[in-house]
Amino acid sequence: MEDRNVGAKNRSIVDEAKKCIDRKEWKIAISLFQESRTICLTQDWPDGVRYANEMIAKATSNLQDSLPLLKDLREYCKKIRIICPICNKTGALLVDKNIGSRALEEHNALIKLRIFPGDICEHEFTVFVDDTFKMRS
Ligand SMILES: [Zn+2]
Repeated sequence: MEDRNVGAKNRSIVDEAKKCIDRKEWKIAISLFQESRTICLTQDWPDGVRYANEMIAKATSNLQDSLPLLKDLREYCKKIRIICPICNKTGALLVDKNIGSRALEEHNALIKLRIFPGDICEHEFTVFVDDTFKMRS
């Protein structure tokens, strides 16, 4: 039985992810589709899982194509140092600079970031980053 709220939430995530694809914001699109895939897995929606996987593959290959444009990327992305709270492994994550201003607009100084397996280590966790892009614990 389909949960209407979960369905609506998933649709809005997918809509936002498609906009990110249009804007070539691959990293953000990937994390949104990963979120959608998690929902679809939980709800047992195989079509949604397949669609999310296809889009993640597409965005990942575009991201790799765009790596020579690292200079451009630095202009609108910011590298954040992330430490896994489970295994303490340190890594860097590229995020859209806009998330900082978005957080300020919402009068919330802390930005919540979902870290997926493969980003830093094999763990999935959530971190909080302040508007200067420093990780808070
Ligand atoms: Zn870890």
